[in-house]
Amino acid sequence: MFIPRQTKDFINIDPLQTGGILTEDAKRMLLEWGDGYSVCDFCEGSLHDIKNPPIKDFVQQLAEFLDCDIVRITTGAREGKFVVMHSLAKKDAWIIVDSNAHYSTFIAAERSGLNVAEVPNSGYPEFKIYEEKFADVIEETKKKGEVVLAVLTYPDGNYGNLPNAEKVIKICHEYEVPVLLNCAYSIGRMEIKANELDADFVVGSGHKSMASAGPVGVLGMKEEFAKIVLRKSERFKNKEIELLGCTARGVPLMTLMASFPHVKERVKRWNEEVEKARWFADKMEEMGFKLLGEKPHNHDLMHFESLQFYEISKKVKARGYFLYKELKKRKIHGIKPGRTKSFKVSTYMVPKDKLEIVLNAFEEILEKYKHTLES
Ligand SMILES: *Cc1c(COP(=O)(O)O)cnc(C)c1O
Repeated sequence: MFIPRQTKDFINIDPLQTGGILTEDAKRMLLEWGDGYSVCDFCEGSLHDIKNPPIKDFVQQLAEFLDCDIVRITTGAREGKFVVMHSLAKKDAWIIVDSNAHYSTFIAAERSGLNVAEVPNSGYPEFKIYEEKFADVIEETKKKGEVVLAVLTYPDGNYGNLPNAEKVIKICHEYEVPVLLNCAYSIGRMEIKANELDADFVVGSGHKSMASAGPVGVLGMKEEFAKIVLRKSERFKNKEIELLGCTARGVPLMTLMASFPHVKERVKRWNEEVEKARWFADKMEEMGFKLLGEKPHNHDLMHFESLQFYEISKKVKARGYFLYKELKKRKIHGIKPGRTKSFKVSTYMVPKDKLEIVLNAFEEILEKYKHTLES
């Protein structure tokens, strides 16, 4: 059986997907290493120590790239968060998270038996996280139990807001609370230097932001946490318990390795991506859409409020699906079917001429349905 992908030659502005598109090298790697357990041909017991293929060397390069003492491969950002939370968890303990956190942060905490206290955002329209608020929430939460970790979403996946990580980390460290930076939307797009930021943990997502097939991710940490998080089995001396002995033991890791040279180069061009995103946002606002989240924006993930589309959806037969259908006709993929009130897009690595096509499409759709708003 073979199943072709419907959206293969579409312009892709899906925030989940723009950073995960494979390089040509990764595509070749995918075929070469697709057979199950083929990366384990010469494994002596731990994935990150495999010399052939050169995984050991890659993991060392990753540690340099992330400015981390120790790095492990995971099956995704969420698994990285879970590994850290589960190993730091204690009975009745708490973690602090920003309220723009991804659902998987809450679920990882739940699975670890941890209580969650939220640092609120500023609400509509910017939904900003104010760094100082971490202090208030830690103070309050300490009265209820031990705070074992703070998680900062950097940036969040709903608005693409980038809080000041250094400031949050400094505040949390004043209370001796270690900090995990959730960099699912940043590692592989922008330069992240964990030790420079003084972050205790960072997690990244290969399929979200590192041009990889998934599921695969990275987890970086400070040396001092290795003895807890990477503690080894009593029975199987070289197996790390929290990693269940071995994580992404297959072709997703090989695509991560294949794209790494490209990823190292592309993070240097992050400023250009931010500029392009801002240009796109300006054009959208000229058409009457409203950018939510931080302004000026600092990330390619953008959330627009689109009340005109919402009004149109009340008048047309396809209802909320009209926008999706119109975009599909124009071979544009990425806006969730059924959404009209607001939607998220990513301009990451999408050439400007393709973005012009997207902007023109929005303009055409508004024009086409203008009459429905007049009746
Ligand atoms: C996508 C995303 C995740 C999940 O990443 P996985 O690698 O699929 O687990 C976690 N956090 C944020 C902020 C995300 O955007």
